[in-house]
Amino acid sequence: MRLKTKIVRRKGDENFICPIILPSNHLLVERLIFENHTNQCHSEKQVVLSNIRQQFWILRCINTVQSIINQCIRCKVYTSKEIKTILAPLPEYRVRDTLLFEVTGVDLAGPLYLKNGSKAWIVLFTCAVYHAIQLELRQSYSTDGLLLGMKIFIARRGRPRKTFRDNGTNFIVADNLMLPLTGKKITQET
Ligand SMILES: [Zn+2]
Repeated sequence: MRLKTKIVRRKGDENFICPIILPSNHLLVERLIFENHTNQCHSEKQVVLSNIRQQFWILRCINTVQSIINQCIRCKVYTSKEIKTILAPLPEYRVRDTLLFEVTGVDLAGPLYLKNGSKAWIVLFTCAVYHAIQLELRQSYSTDGLLLGMKIFIARRGRPRKTFRDNGTNFIVADNLMLPLTGKKITQET
Protein backbone atom coordinates (compact mmCIF):
# COMPACT_ATOMS: atom_id res chain seq x y z
CA MET A 1 0.00 0.00 0.00
CA ARG A 2 1.20 3.46 -0.87
CA LEU A 3 0.25 6.85 0.44
CA LYS A 4 -1.44 9.18 -2.04
CA THR A 5 0.18 12.57 -1.62
CA LYS A 6 -0.43 15.99 -3.14
CA ILE A 7 2.62 15.75 -5.33
CA VAL A 8 1.52 12.84 -7.49
CA ARG A 9 1.94 14.95 -10.62
CA ARG A 10 5.56 15.47 -9.88
CA LYS A 11 7.97 13.40 -11.92
CA GLY A 12 10.65 11.51 -10.15
CA ASP A 13 11.18 8.73 -7.65
CA GLU A 14 7.91 6.88 -7.00
CA ASN A 15 8.89 6.06 -3.43
CA PHE A 16 9.27 9.76 -2.69
CA ILE A 17 6.02 10.82 -4.39
CA CYS A 18 3.92 7.94 -3.04
CA PRO A 19 5.78 6.41 -0.06
CA ILE A 20 5.07 2.85 1.03
CA ILE A 21 2.87 2.64 4.14
CA LEU A 22 4.35 0.55 6.91
CA PRO A 23 3.02 -0.41 10.35
CA SER A 24 4.93 0.84 13.36
CA ASN A 25 4.85 -2.31 15.46
CA HIS A 26 6.82 -4.62 13.22
CA LEU A 27 10.33 -5.90 13.84
CA LEU A 28 11.40 -5.13 10.29
CA VAL A 29 10.28 -1.53 10.65
CA GLU A 30 12.11 -1.20 13.96
CA ARG A 31 15.26 -2.53 12.30
CA LEU A 32 14.80 -0.11 9.43
CA ILE A 33 14.56 2.84 11.82
CA PHE A 34 17.56 1.68 13.84
CA GLU A 35 19.68 1.14 10.74
CA ASN A 36 18.76 4.61 9.55
CA HIS A 37 19.65 6.05 12.94
CA THR A 38 23.09 4.39 12.99
CA ASN A 39 23.85 5.16 9.33
CA GLN A 40 23.16 8.84 10.05
CA CYS A 41 25.83 8.86 12.80
CA HIS A 42 23.24 8.28 15.57
CA SER A 43 21.25 11.29 14.52
CA GLU A 44 18.27 12.65 16.40
CA LYS A 45 14.59 12.00 15.77
CA GLN A 46 13.88 14.70 13.17
CA VAL A 47 16.79 13.67 10.95
CA VAL A 48 15.73 10.01 11.02
CA LEU A 49 12.10 10.93 10.30
CA SER A 50 13.08 13.11 7.39
CA ASN A 51 15.28 10.43 5.94
CA ILE A 52 12.73 7.63 6.29
CA ARG A 53 9.89 9.67 4.82
CA GLN A 54 11.74 9.90 1.53
CA GLN A 55 10.78 6.25 0.99
CA PHE A 56 8.32 5.07 3.62
CA TRP A 57 5.33 6.38 5.54
CA ILE A 58 5.37 4.69 8.93
CA LEU A 59 2.18 4.97 10.96
CA ARG A 60 2.66 6.72 14.37
CA CYS A 61 6.18 7.32 13.17
CA ILE A 62 7.26 10.00 15.67
CA ASN A 63 6.70 7.88 18.78
CA THR A 64 8.20 4.78 17.17
CA VAL A 65 11.37 6.54 16.08
CA GLN A 66 11.76 8.14 19.50
CA SER A 67 11.35 4.82 21.28
CA ILE A 68 13.92 3.14 19.00
CA ILE A 69 16.43 5.95 19.59
CA ASN A 70 15.81 5.67 23.34
CA GLN A 71 16.90 2.03 23.18
CA CYS A 72 20.20 2.79 21.40
CA ILE A 73 23.01 1.86 23.81
CA ARG A 74 25.61 4.12 22.21
CA CYS A 75 23.32 7.15 22.44
CA LYS A 76 22.61 6.29 26.07
CA VAL A 77 26.34 6.22 26.81
CA TYR A 78 27.01 9.62 25.26
CA THR A 79 23.91 11.40 26.53
CA SER A 80 23.79 10.03 30.07
CA LYS A 81 24.43 12.52 32.82
CA GLU A 82 27.44 12.09 35.04
CA ILE A 83 26.85 11.07 38.62
CA LYS A 84 27.44 13.98 40.92
CA THR A 85 28.82 13.20 44.33
CA ILE A 86 28.89 15.52 47.28
CA LEU A 87 32.47 16.03 48.41
CA ALA A 88 33.12 15.08 51.99
CA PRO A 89 34.63 17.80 54.21
CA LEU A 90 38.34 17.47 54.94
CA PRO A 91 39.24 16.09 58.38
CA GLU A 92 40.15 18.56 61.12
CA TYR A 93 43.89 17.84 61.01
CA ARG A 94 44.01 18.92 57.35
CA VAL A 95 42.41 22.31 57.83
CA ARG A 96 43.78 23.52 61.17
CA ASP A 97 46.66 26.00 61.43
CA THR A 98 49.87 24.02 61.72
CA LEU A 99 53.55 24.32 61.10
CA LEU A 100 54.89 23.04 57.79
CA PHE A 101 55.04 19.21 57.79
CA GLU A 102 53.40 19.03 61.25
CA VAL A 103 50.97 16.57 59.65
CA THR A 104 52.85 14.49 57.11
CA GLY A 105 52.17 11.62 54.76
CA VAL A 106 55.08 9.35 53.90
CA ASP A 107 55.36 6.87 51.06
CA LEU A 108 57.93 5.28 48.79
CA ALA A 109 58.00 5.79 45.03
CA GLY A 110 60.04 3.89 42.51
CA PRO A 111 62.12 2.19 41.43
CA LEU A 112 63.99 4.70 39.29
CA TYR A 113 66.66 3.31 36.98
CA LEU A 114 69.94 5.18 37.17
CA LYS A 115 72.50 5.55 34.37
CA ASN A 116 74.86 3.07 36.02
CA GLY A 117 72.15 0.39 35.94
CA SER A 118 71.32 0.50 39.62
CA LYS A 119 67.92 1.28 41.06
CA ALA A 120 66.84 4.05 43.40
CA TRP A 121 63.69 4.85 45.34
CA ILE A 122 62.20 8.11 46.54
CA VAL A 123 60.96 8.56 50.09
CA LEU A 124 58.15 11.03 49.56
CA PHE A 125 57.02 13.30 52.40
CA THR A 126 53.84 15.32 51.85
CA CYS A 127 52.51 18.04 54.12
CA ALA A 128 48.80 17.32 54.59
CA VAL A 129 47.89 20.99 55.16
CA TYR A 130 50.07 23.02 52.79
CA HIS A 131 50.74 20.39 50.08
CA ALA A 132 54.49 20.93 50.31
CA ILE A 133 56.65 17.92 49.50
CA GLN A 134 60.14 16.74 50.30
CA LEU A 135 61.85 14.00 48.33
CA GLU A 136 64.70 11.90 49.65
CA LEU A 137 66.52 9.71 47.15
CA ARG A 138 67.55 6.33 48.56
CA GLN A 139 69.27 3.44 46.84
CA SER A 140 67.32 0.91 48.83
CA TYR A 141 63.67 0.55 49.73
CA SER A 142 64.55 -1.53 52.78
CA THR A 143 63.81 -0.45 56.34
CA ASP A 144 67.33 1.00 56.67
CA GLY A 145 66.84 3.13 53.58
CA LEU A 146 63.48 4.31 54.85
CA LEU A 147 64.78 5.13 58.34
CA LEU A 148 67.70 7.08 56.89
CA GLY A 149 65.30 9.02 54.70
CA MET A 150 63.12 9.80 57.71
CA LYS A 151 66.17 10.78 59.77
CA ILE A 152 67.21 13.33 57.14
CA PHE A 153 63.65 14.61 56.89
CA ILE A 154 63.25 15.03 60.67
CA ALA A 155 66.67 16.69 60.97
CA ARG A 156 65.59 19.27 58.42
CA ARG A 157 61.89 19.75 59.14
CA GLY A 158 61.42 18.58 62.72
CA ARG A 159 59.45 15.61 63.98
CA PRO A 160 55.89 15.53 62.58
CA ARG A 161 53.06 15.53 65.11
CA LYS A 162 51.02 13.12 63.01
CA THR A 163 52.27 10.86 60.23
CA PHE A 164 50.30 8.81 57.75
CA ARG A 165 51.65 5.80 55.90
CA ASP A 166 50.41 2.70 54.13
CA ASN A 167 50.95 -0.80 55.44
CA GLY A 168 54.18 -1.41 53.51
CA THR A 169 56.44 -4.03 55.06
CA ASN A 170 59.33 -1.59 55.44
CA PHE A 171 57.12 0.82 57.41
CA ILE A 172 55.85 -1.92 59.72
CA VAL A 173 59.39 -3.21 60.36
CA ALA A 174 60.60 0.36 61.00
CA ASP A 175 57.80 0.82 63.53
CA ASN A 176 58.67 -2.45 65.25
CA LEU A 177 62.36 -1.47 65.39
CA MET A 178 61.73 1.97 66.82
CA LEU A 179 59.08 0.98 69.35
CA PRO A 180 61.43 -0.70 71.92
CA LEU A 181 64.04 2.06 71.52
CA THR A 182 61.88 5.13 71.78
CA GLY A 183 58.60 3.83 73.11
CA LYS A 184 56.94 5.36 70.06
CA LYS A 185 56.27 4.21 66.57
CA ILE A 186 57.79 6.43 63.92
CA THR A 187 54.41 6.94 62.38
CA GLN A 188 52.54 7.34 65.67
CA GLU A 189 50.70 10.52 66.57
CA THR A 190 52.57 12.44 69.28
ZN1 LIG B 1 22.24 5.91 18.70
